[in-house]
Amino acid sequence: MSRFWSQVVRDLTPYVPGEQPKIAHLIKLNTNEHPSPPSPKVLEAIRAELGEDGARLRLYPDPNADLLKTAIAKRYAVAAQQVFVGNGSDEVLAHIFMALLKHPQPILFPDITYSFYPVYCGLYGVAHRTVALADDFSIDPEDYCQTPNGGIIITNPNAPTGRLLPLAAIDRIAGANPDSVVVIDEAYIDFGGESAIPLTARHDNLLVVHTLSKSRSLAGLRVGYAIGHPDLIEALERVKNSFNSYPLDRLAIAGAAAAIEDDEYFARACRQVIATRDQLVARLTGLGFDVLPSAANFVFARHPQRDAGELARALRARNIIVRHFKLPRIEQFLRISIGSELDCLALGNALHDILGT
Ligand SMILES: *Cc1c(COP(=O)(O)O)cnc(C)c1O
Repeated sequence: MSRFWSQVVRDLTPYVPGEQPKIAHLIKLNTNEHPSPPSPKVLEAIRAELGEDGARLRLYPDPNADLLKTAIAKRYAVAAQQVFVGNGSDEVLAHIFMALLKHPQPILFPDITYSFYPVYCGLYGVAHRTVALADDFSIDPEDYCQTPNGGIIITNPNAPTGRLLPLAAIDRIAGANPDSVVVIDEAYIDFGGESAIPLTARHDNLLVVHTLSKSRSLAGLRVGYAIGHPDLIEALERVKNSFNSYPLDRLAIAGAAAAIEDDEYFARACRQVIATRDQLVARLTGLGFDVLPSAANFVFARHPQRDAGELARALRARNIIVRHFKLPRIEQFLRISIGSELDCLALGNALHDILGT
C-alpha cells in the first residue's frame, strides 16, 4: 500500500496464477499446459517471420492480425468479421467483461469456475452473482434461464472440475437469454467436448472463447480468440483499439496461424492427452480416489481419507506439483494436469508411496 495508489488499485484482488517454478526436473502438473511441443509448422512459421536478420521486427505487426483471423475463420467456417484475437484468452476475456458484461443487472456464473472471472468483475466494476453447482458439480441449465441478468459466463468443460455441459444445454441458455450476452469459455473443449461455435450462427448473443495455450501447446506464445456475431466482435475491437493497437506480436501471429492450420498434428496431440487421461483416471481410482468425470486435460480428484493439502505437500516434496485450491466446497480436491505418460506414471507411483497402499 502506498499513498500513490489510486482507489481502484487499493480495491483490487488480483488473480494468482499457478506457480511457474524456476527449479529444473520438476514434474509440473499444476497449470494445464500440454505435455507435447507445438506443431513443427509453428517453429517454421516463426523462423520465416524472423528471417535471416530479424529486420521485420523493426516494423509494427498487423494491428488486425488478419493472417490469423483468416486462418481461424477458415478452420471454424465463420466469417473473419466474427473473429476477435487477443494476447491470450485472458485478455480476450478482460475485454469481454468491459465491453459486453458491464450492465446494471449482475452477471451470472457458477460458484466453482475459473477464478479469474470475479477478478475482472473487480477490475471493471461488473456486478455479479454466483450460482451454486449441484452436489455432483454439474451445472443445471435451468438456473440460467429464469433469472434476469446482465450476462452469463460459463467455462465448458468447467474448470477446475472438468465436467462437460452438453451443447443442448448451451443452446437452451442462449435461447432463454436473448437480451444478454452468453459467453462460453472453451479453453478445454478440444479434450472431449463439442464446440458451441456452430451455435453462434443461430444466437447473436452467443460468444465462444478459445485459447491456444492448452490444446495447441502454445501457452508461452499468448494467443486467444473469440467467435460470435460481428456486432459482439465490433464491441471487442472498440475496447482493444482503446487499449493496445498491437496485442499480438509478429511471431505470435505467424506461429498461431500455423498452429491453427495444422489440424492433423493437433488432433493427434489431443488424442494422446485423452489416452493418458484415461490411464490416469484408472490409476487414481485404483488408489482409492474419487475422480470427477473429465472432458479436459486435467482431472479433479479427492481421496476420502486423506487431506488434499497434505497430499499436495507430500507430492511437492517428491518434486511433483499439482494445483490445490483452498476454496469452499473444493478444498479436499486436487487438480492434476495431464502430463506425459511418464509424468502421470511418476505421479501414480508417488501417490501409491504416500498413501502406503
Ligand atoms: C487457461 C485458461 C484461460 C487462459 O488462457 P490464456 O489464453 O493462456 O490466457 C482462460 N480460461 C480458462 C477457463 C482457462 O483454464
